[in-house]
Amino acid sequence: MTKKLITDIELAQAGHANGISTHLAAKGPSGRLTEAEKQAIIENAAAAYANFLEALGCDWKNDPNSEDTPRRVAKAYVNDLWAGRFQPLSEITAFPADGYDGIVQESNIPVTSMCSHHHQTIGGRVNIAYVPSKDGKVVGLSKLNRIVEHFARRGAIQEQLTVAIHNAVDKICEGNKGIAVMLDATHNCVSCRGVKHHGASMQTAKLSGCFVNEEATRAEFYKNIELAGRHRS
Ligand SMILES: [Zn+2]
Repeated sequence: MTKKLITDIELAQAGHANGISTHLAAKGPSGRLTEAEKQAIIENAAAAYANFLEALGCDWKNDPNSEDTPRRVAKAYVNDLWAGRFQPLSEITAFPADGYDGIVQESNIPVTSMCSHHHQTIGGRVNIAYVPSKDGKVVGLSKLNRIVEHFARRGAIQEQLTVAIHNAVDKICEGNKGIAVMLDATHNCVSCRGVKHHGASMQTAKLSGCFVNEEATRAEFYKNIELAGRHRS
């Protein structure tokens, strides 16, 4: 089974916080950044963050806790928080469904993201399901986790993140009968700033095909989320 590079799955414009970086976009559809190029991005971002701290009256150079902070923050953005903006989604292998046309679901996929508006973290769980056709395609389960990481590790708008995950799964699982994605998350920009309400959570869902047209399939999706909840904690 050959691996396939999935392209044309980015919903947001390159350069936007929820899109890929302008550096990666300049490389073309299947281009990658070299380690040296990533390092240069980290260096530039660290210098800019040092200015940001100075603007806030932080004498970071003389504070033992802050002297490496510009670099730490820059590295965290490039390697973790916004990692999905600096590399294309890796190749994904889809396998023949071989006659299976039931629901395939992964629930409770942890998601860590960051809101595009305030750069505060978003944390929660994603639930993904699809129904392959008998002669369609299925993917290795961990690939669903990888798709979540690719789109969540960047600036995000939860509604748009839900659709981006949905569309990528739809594209990879060729010949599917329907896709369901439900995201349940808390936003630190709501709990730590502004209204400062702790514990409020946001649910978004994008359903298509049989999950829209068949009440029983949709009910099975939400029932599976409940069942999977038993494995948590
Ligand atoms: Zn926000």
